[in-house]
Formats: sequence, structure tokens, C-alpha cells
Amino acid sequence: MPITEVDKIWMDGELVDWKHAQVHVLSHALHYGSGVFEGIRAYETARGAAVWHLDEHLRRLFRSAKLYHMDIPYSHEALVEATRQVVRANELHACYIRPLAFRGYGEMGVNPLLAPVNVVVAVWPWGTYLGEDALEQGVRIKISSWRRNSQNALPAGAKATGQYINSVLAKVESLKAGYDEAIMLNEAGQITDGSGENVFIVRDRVLTTPPTQAGCLDGITRTTVMSLARDLGYVVREENLVRTDLYNADECFFTGTAAEITPIREVDDRTVGEGHRGPVTKELQSAFFSATKGDNPRYADWLTYVRD
Ligand code: PMP
Repeated sequence: MPITEVDKIWMDGELVDWKHAQVHVLSHALHYGSGVFEGIRAYETARGAAVWHLDEHLRRLFRSAKLYHMDIPYSHEALVEATRQVVRANELHACYIRPLAFRGYGEMGVNPLLAPVNVVVAVWPWGTYLGEDALEQGVRIKISSWRRNSQNALPAGAKATGQYINSVLAKVESLKAGYDEAIMLNEAGQITDGSGENVFIVRDRVLTTPPTQAGCLDGITRTTVMSLARDLGYVVREENLVRTDLYNADECFFTGTAAEITPIREVDDRTVGEGHRGPVTKELQSAFFSATKGDNPRYADWLTYVRD
């Protein structure tokens, strides 16, 4: 998906012109994947743009950095302000937000500890991640032949840039085979997540999603959807799933900042349920989008407005 350029990027404490937000080719992170990042969205509300779950995302960024012994040279509060500032500066009503902390230029070799830590917060307009009609029509997915990296090799609890090369293998395999997205199994053959989304199934009106111990990312949309579903009266379980659980589900959907709540209509060429967005998925989507718009006071805390 091509990036839509905007005016400014927040880089190491300042707003710089989009085209000047550059790094040296010998930056550590380019060679060794030594960065941690977040994907966040800001939504349009009656009070202007508001960032969805900003605190949760920044908390996860700091947890990811801690795992890799990376001291981010800005506080949580400073990055809240940086995010608000860069959305305002680009006059965006809704956008995707990409905070990234990475090991920069100055040291080579695997040891990252002496390389500087650079921090950027970039924003750009981004529509539906898995295609124009995906939110209504659903997507076709394939169980990848690539396994999710194991918890004791590259921990899924951290969102580090380098580990995404595992997702890249699965994503490209699925696209080349004619599908929209992949889901990876762990070494035990249990479902983990998509290349950038968590997975849920609905069966007999009960929602199930794999536990994070299976090796999926502790997705913020996943937690949000579990809360929304429970508030709507559904039973939600975190239990291991195998691929046949997806084939036999009444409904199946992805959750993620980019993918939001995207129905899965086919898994490995088997139709899921009726083959289109099911009623539970639809109900969750409307609860989700009403909260992102700021229309439900119960979830007001999930939004950080970019203007005071
Ligand atoms: N799994 C993976 C591998 C991801 O990259 C993402 C996107 N961050 C997710 C799940 C969904 O997480 P979130 O809801 O926090 O965006």
C-alpha cells in the first residue's frame, strides 16, 4: 500500500519535514532489526482527531524496549505530547500513527548497547488495511507453512522490528498463493495470529481467541474486543485453537489496529459459516466504531484528543 506523504514527522524531539526524516545506511537497526515500534490509529470524532488507546500502545512500546535493553530517551508523557503534536501539525482528522525507537548510527556489530537510540513518530492517512471491501465482505486466508517464531527465540510479547521478517515470510507466501492474509501456527500446531492481526472464532455465540502463551502478540484491539464482547453479554474465552476450529467456526475474524475488525470468510479454501460477515462480527464492529468515534461515553477513556 503506497504511503500518502504528509508535511511533518516528529524525529528526536522536533518536527522535521517529511523528506528530511532520514537515517544513515549504517544505522544499526537496518542491519540487525534492533528497533521497537507501535501501530496506532487516530479517529475522527466530534471533538476532532482522537488517538485510540494511546496509553496502552505507548506502554507496550516501553515494554518492548525494556526487553531489548533499550532506554528510550523520552518519557511516556513526552511521547503522548509528541503524538498529539504531530497529528495536529499535519492537520489530519484520522490517520495511522507509527512510533519507532531504533538503534541508530555509530556502532556496528551485533551488540546494540553503545548505539544511540533514535525515536520517531510518523503519521499518514491509512484506510482499510486488508482491502476496500474487507470490513464487509471478509478476507480469504491461508494457514502458513511458516511457523510463528517461538517464544524462546523471538518473544511475541515485544513488538520488535526484526521479528517481523517472520510475518513477512508468511504474508508473501499467502499473497503469492492468491490469499489475502496468513495465519501462523506455533511449533505445537496451535493457532497464533496473522502476520499483523489477532484471530477470534465464534461458535454457538461463544468467542474464543488463542492465549498469548500460544505465541501471538498481546494485541490491543484483541483486548478491546474482548471487553466490548463481554459488555455485550458474550462469553469470551482464551483457549488454544487448531486449524479445524477455524474451518468449523460459525464466524471468524481478525482484530488489529490496521485491520480493525475484519471478517474472515474463507480458511484454506473452506467457507467459514455463511461465507460473509456474520451477525456477531457485525455487532462487534458497530460497537467498536461507535467507541472510536467517541459516541459511547462508557469508553471515553480509550480516546486521547489531539486538541485540548
Ligand atoms: N499480531 C501481530 C503479529 C501484529 O503485528 C499486530 C499488530 N500490532 C497484531 C497482532 C494486532 O495488535 P494490535 O491490536 O495491538 O494492533
